[in-house]
Amino acid sequence: MTERPTYYFDNNATTRVAPEVVDAMIPFLRDFWGNPSSAYSFGSQVARHVEAAREKIAALIGADAKEITFTSCGTESNNAVLQSCLATQPGKRHILTTAVEHSAIIKHCELLQKQGCEVTFLPVDSDGQLDLHLLDQSIRPDTAIVSVMWANNETGMIFPVEEIAAICRSKGVLFHTDATQTPGKLKLDVAEVGADFLTLSAHKLHAPKGVGLLYIRQGVKFLPYVVGGHQERGKRGGTENVASIVAFGRAAELAQAHHAEENTRVRAMRDRMEQSILRAVPNTLRIGAKEPRLPNTSNIAFDFVEAEGILLKLDELGICASSGSACTTGSLNPSHVLTAMGIKPARAKGCVRFSLGCYNTDAEVDYLLTHIPRVISELREASPDKPGKTRTGRVAAASLAGSLQK
Ligand code: PLP
Repeated sequence: MTERPTYYFDNNATTRVAPEVVDAMIPFLRDFWGNPSSAYSFGSQVARHVEAAREKIAALIGADAKEITFTSCGTESNNAVLQSCLATQPGKRHILTTAVEHSAIIKHCELLQKQGCEVTFLPVDSDGQLDLHLLDQSIRPDTAIVSVMWANNETGMIFPVEEIAAICRSKGVLFHTDATQTPGKLKLDVAEVGADFLTLSAHKLHAPKGVGLLYIRQGVKFLPYVVGGHQERGKRGGTENVASIVAFGRAAELAQAHHAEENTRVRAMRDRMEQSILRAVPNTLRIGAKEPRLPNTSNIAFDFVEAEGILLKLDELGICASSGSACTTGSLNPSHVLTAMGIKPARAKGCVRFSLGCYNTDAEVDYLLTHIPRVISELREASPDKPGKTRTGRVAAASLAGSLQK
């Protein structure tokens, strides 16, 4: 493990587990390790804590505890929704989603296409926004589910989920939103939005990896994706990840308490960081619209240089951020989100996402701002892409590539 200080600007990838959350989960690793499904009190006392966590998370999103099903991660929740909507509506084989969803939706849709389903991936404009008229027109009599993320992990763009839910409701079609990037950053109220399903993941909320949830609106039919025991009221088989569920509950409480802070202090830090970079470094551009956007996220294009080179240099300085490239068999492909926004590969390859969180400080932002102009100018000096030079090769890198898939 590294001893040097870490300047962590990658909170959309994962978040530090809050010390209060660690404290909450430890007793369930050390002392109260019974199986919550066991009839004796050593088990049933644990079940009570799982239910208390369910209540806390339900409170965070304005749901009833009965509407919360714990899963292993956001990916599982997203997969489970698609599978269930197809299974409960056998005549419906069409899925409507967007071209900028997380790979947990996109890749699963591609698999379903191979199995005979039809999928429409709605385009976005250069700001990363959807055309709701097109969305409305694209709903078909055989549409089993409309799945649109609440906020994009790469750009932070927020979609108008309330309006999308209303369109779906008017057409009698089920609506799912992948809200993985939102808790602690946006106010969440499933009743206000009117979603039938919603996905969350604990590790984006200062809780551990390996636990997620699916909100299933009361009365909506659901068939389990992970089949086994009768856990989660028959909606998801498998012994519950008790300590992490308890942690998720504690993190939800903290998120409710700190939501205002995330929206003010973190937003101010993000804006200062973004404006300073755009001012201090020539040939830079913010990707996506200024608003509506998550308060913590900034995706910046550094022209004439490749993101992987930037990330390696930043890593040497202890700074963590993400690139928009996916490394596949040695070739660096621009991310599907940036491609869908019409960003040319040459620019997309120089995009870096900085995502802040409640543990970031102004001093950390200052550290980044002190180093980034030099890092970029050194890379540009050495780059075959710099203006006036012919492109002869690429910055070798790649070990840090692909991180925006998170
Ligand atoms: N959806 C979005 C928007 C995400 O950003 C992520 C995480 O990177 C996921 C889903 C997947 O969540 P998990 O890592 O819990 O599987």
